[in-house]
Amino acid sequence: MPIGYGDILHARRRIAATVRVTPMEPSPSLSARLGVPVHLKLEHRQATGSFKLRGATNAVLSLSPAERGRGVVGVSTGNHGRGLAQAAAANGVPVTVAMSRLVPENKVAAIRDLGATVIIAGESQDEAQEEVDRLVAQDGLTMIPPFDHPAIVAGQGTLGVEAMEQVPDAATVLVPVSGGGLAAGVALAVKTANPRARIVGLTMENGAAMHASLAAGAPVQVPEVASLADSLGGGIGLDNAHTFAMVRDLVDEIVLLSEAEIAEGIRHAYWQEGEVIEGGGAVGLAAVLAGKVAADGPTVILLTGRNIDPRLHFAVLSGYEPTSP
Ligand SMILES: *Cc1c(COP(=O)(O)O)cnc(C)c1O
Repeated sequence: MPIGYGDILHARRRIAATVRVTPMEPSPSLSARLGVPVHLKLEHRQATGSFKLRGATNAVLSLSPAERGRGVVGVSTGNHGRGLAQAAAANGVPVTVAMSRLVPENKVAAIRDLGATVIIAGESQDEAQEEVDRLVAQDGLTMIPPFDHPAIVAGQGTLGVEAMEQVPDAATVLVPVSGGGLAAGVALAVKTANPRARIVGLTMENGAAMHASLAAGAPVQVPEVASLADSLGGGIGLDNAHTFAMVRDLVDEIVLLSEAEIAEGIRHAYWQEGEVIEGGGAVGLAAVLAGKVAADGPTVILLTGRNIDPRLHFAVLSGYEPTSP
């Protein structure tokens, strides 16, 4: 494995000045439901509203002065773009973000407000990626991918180090999975701290590329579909170099959630925990509420993001029941 625990510790020192240590809070209601202590890692309170700032900051700070001068570019369903924009702006690096038309408008606006140049390109992440490839070839920008990159995985892994310091006896850690950068880094950090800890990956039933790829034994493409968990959409890359193998080797189980279950997770976050959590960040809550997670001991749920369109959030709280396509 080319990414080691030492890389995560190095990332932690590198990003410490600009990335927050986020709180860990007990959840009395979920602890009662599961019969074991349940703790919530409030990573949606990270600057930019998601953990993506960790990996992006580590990646930007890994560049040479010449690379920083030419600037960085990323393709993103929103939160990576936001994290990358903030990480680059904080370090005086010019940044361009390309995204597909499926990305909600509130996420697009937030990235523009952080000072990034935004390019809307294509119907899918893959088509937006083609535009990024052009900018890399033409202008010498450095492409910072959302997950399949050693500096990104190491940066996201800092969340796992923090979680294990806050709950050293964690037996199970629930991690949302899309491209697998978060799950790969967190699993490496958690299993280094406690090799017997169980990592449960969570994703939606529809359009879950990592799950389909694990089932196929190699990266495969799946059609991109709209989901409440929009930040978990997109492929893992047919030429995936790091996260597929790491998730395959380190994540013990993947749990799939329906749209209705994800809606329940968003509602629980707000009414019971007092937190605004986007669909992709609420899948851990959803899995516990749906009875899809075994109670093995102290359980940590990563709440990974808060960037939900306020109108969609209000609709879900008001009882809107999404149907799975
Ligand atoms: C990106 C993201 C994830 C998934 O992270 P990957 O590294 O792509 O697996 C989970 N939750 C939120 C809120 C995200 O933005």
